[in-house]
Amino acid sequence: TLIYMNGKFVPQEQARVSVFDHGFLYGDGVFEGIRAYNGRVFKLKEHVDRLFDSAKAIDLDIGMTKEQMSEAILETLRVNNLTDAYIRPIVSRGDGDLGLDPRKCAKPNVYVIAKYWGSMYGDLYTVGLKAVTVGIRRVAPDALPPNIKSLNYLNNILAKIEANAKGADEAIFLDNNGRVAEGSGDNIFVIKNGVVYTPPTIGNLKGITRATAIELLQEAKIPVKVEEIGLFDVYTADEIFVTGTAAEAAPVVYVDGRNIGTGKPGPITLDMVKRFEKLTSTTGTP
Ligand code: PLP
Repeated sequence: TLIYMNGKFVPQEQARVSVFDHGFLYGDGVFEGIRAYNGRVFKLKEHVDRLFDSAKAIDLDIGMTKEQMSEAILETLRVNNLTDAYIRPIVSRGDGDLGLDPRKCAKPNVYVIAKYWGSMYGDLYTVGLKAVTVGIRRVAPDALPPNIKSLNYLNNILAKIEANAKGADEAIFLDNNGRVAEGSGDNIFVIKNGVVYTPPTIGNLKGITRATAIELLQEAKIPVKVEEIGLFDVYTADEIFVTGTAAEAAPVVYVDGRNIGTGKPGPITLDMVKRFEKLTSTTGTP
């Protein structure tokens, strides 16, 4: 595997990051997660835009144009002969002396990793995931804004550890007010009486798959409402699904010991899984 590192391609074994990289020292950096299907990159523009927005939010100048970043991503796929892949662009503040001050770093480090990727959940797309709500809260928007896809994922990792310990496939975060925020790596949709609800993105990541799912629902003439969601709404839902670049659209059939609806993926969810699959296999940047 060849890794993109600041304009060069380096074999995986030699792709080493400095201990003085502020991404490593302080989590000072941003990243993206992107998928390629059948040799086409899904929603490339949206991901590159979000990467630059994340960087802007932490006052980090990537030092490349969006076109150059897109080309680096596509080139990383090409040099590795990948058609179905997970792509991880990472931009850190750069190498600098110890100390938080970003001015210690003269220039950012830009890395792109691309790896073969099939499916995250395998059979669970038809069976459904088990989820648990976790004690760790999605951070308050005024502390570390969840909209920034930053190199600080410890909160999400703590959520995952909690879910693992409880034997669940995915964690559901609540925010500081006890409202449903999102999964550890995906956004959430809750369906009741034919209406699909998803929380506003002030307290979670502005998921690109979430936006895609909303479009697909609108196309299918299924009503979608962006509204705050409580635990009661989760437990009494007819169906739940989560969306993410890695997770795609995945049914959730069990939360905190309760079956959701019948305990099997429902019709709106299964239709969404199918529509999403169709879209990913027919669109994208070659
Ligand atoms: N929420 C979090 C915390 C994530 O890390 C991700 C993954 O990127 C998502 C939601 C889903 O976002 P997207 O659909 O853009 O991949």
